[in-house]
Amino acid sequence: MPSFDYDLFVIGGGSGGVRSARVAASLGKKVGIAEEYRFGGTCVIRGCVPKKLFVYASQYPEHFEDSAGYGWTVGEKSFDWKKLIAAKDKEITRLEGLYRKGLETAGADIFESRAELVDAHTVLLKGLDRTVTAERIVIAVGGAPNPHAALPGYELCISSNEAFHLETLPKSILIAGGGYIAVEFANIFHGLGVETTLIYRGQEILSRFDQDMRRGLHEAMTAKGIRILLQDVLQDVSRNEDGSLAVTMNNGNLQVETVMLALGRDPNTKGLGLENAGVQIDERGAIVVDAYSRTNVPSVFALGDVTDRVQLTPVAIHEAMCFIETEYRGNPTPVDHDLIATAVFSQPEIGTVGLSEEAAAKKYGELEIYRAQFRPMKATLSGRQERTIMKLIVNAADRKVVGAHILGHEAGEMAQLLGITLKAGCTKDDFDRTMAVHPTAAEELVTMYVPSYRIRNGERV
Ligand code: NDP
Repeated sequence: MPSFDYDLFVIGGGSGGVRSARVAASLGKKVGIAEEYRFGGTCVIRGCVPKKLFVYASQYPEHFEDSAGYGWTVGEKSFDWKKLIAAKDKEITRLEGLYRKGLETAGADIFESRAELVDAHTVLLKGLDRTVTAERIVIAVGGAPNPHAALPGYELCISSNEAFHLETLPKSILIAGGGYIAVEFANIFHGLGVETTLIYRGQEILSRFDQDMRRGLHEAMTAKGIRILLQDVLQDVSRNEDGSLAVTMNNGNLQVETVMLALGRDPNTKGLGLENAGVQIDERGAIVVDAYSRTNVPSVFALGDVTDRVQLTPVAIHEAMCFIETEYRGNPTPVDHDLIATAVFSQPEIGTVGLSEEAAAKKYGELEIYRAQFRPMKATLSGRQERTIMKLIVNAADRKVVGAHILGHEAGEMAQLLGITLKAGCTKDDFDRTMAVHPTAAEELVTMYVPSYRIRNGERV
């Protein structure tokens, strides 16, 4: 057996990479980990965490307005973008420190360097000009915003990366895309007072989500004053003399201060030396792996966004834990991508797990659809025109709840718990015999006794 410098070398210090390195090191393995930018990865440095802080910041104007109905008079208000950025950066630096500390405490060697494969067991640490060898290598380098380089003027646009560090808050923004990032940032910028337009190529935002959630969110966003252009795409972006941007779309023109592209993310595999080790990638550049995150090269593994399975932090962490179980605990554990609960931090939020009505209708012969739409209690005194939508999709044959969808306050929190019930295979009868928590919005989930309608062979009856 040849000897290596490390039992495990991890390339990439994001959610999946740090988890695999830290746990392997805590099991007594000799572990090295390289990160070229900052520990914490997209999620902590320029994704989920700062995004959620921005969401909180952007909600205050509505809170101030709503308080009047509850007897409050709020004085003069002003918003300081630079102060928000500084506070956010301080928190991100704190979290980054925790990630590093966790690795150090577990005994992993940390390398602040870009790392590339030299062969199936050797990694070049570019910034340090040295190589290390490892019995196993995990590639967890994540992804990056698709630059949409075919768009004339793409270089004048920002992505979510830059949105976290804008010098000033723009007066107006056009956001291209209809996915998680486009929708979340449209609500953030609008909440902070930016004139916001969203442009999406499809018939309705958030493809693959349940139609009621898509439509309901669209209506809520429009009611707030966000402009949504559907079935339209950018053709050209150019700079005006005054510094603003002139945007040509299929169906019109627009002058805005900032254009943000949120058109998906690509795996970070370019220049990684994968060909040196013979690691296979697919047509999108994602590393091809099996259910155990094994590549076609026995010593090389890949997990997280770089494999383009499901681009979510908890999924990368789960993939890392399955890798640890399989390789270091003698307990072969395939990754389970079924029934992943997820939230869109739009305003209102979407929380969802399982199949949309449309997807379930293709899979099952008969469905019962339970649907409730109501005004949340807080809106009664605040006078805000908003509604919550809740939906359970039930397979009529065995009464299993196969999809649960919520549009409304704290939908993400509810989705986490619904995730447990669906994962446990709960039936509608289990929901029915569960006592309500009153007064909450979530109680609606256990008090929808009669189907709103049925779907039989794909048709609503
Ligand atoms: P998404 O895949 O969610 O959305 C990409 C959007 O861009 C879609 O609306 C897609 O349209 C559109 N699009 C893609 N290519 C083109 C094109 N050539 N022209 C016009 N439109 C195009 O990606 P995001 O960038 O929003 O987010 C990346 C990933 O990050 C997500 O998949 C998600 O997993 C994760 N994420 C999760 C969050 C959360 O958990 N809350 C928050 C943010 C990101 P179409 O639908 O028609 O294909």
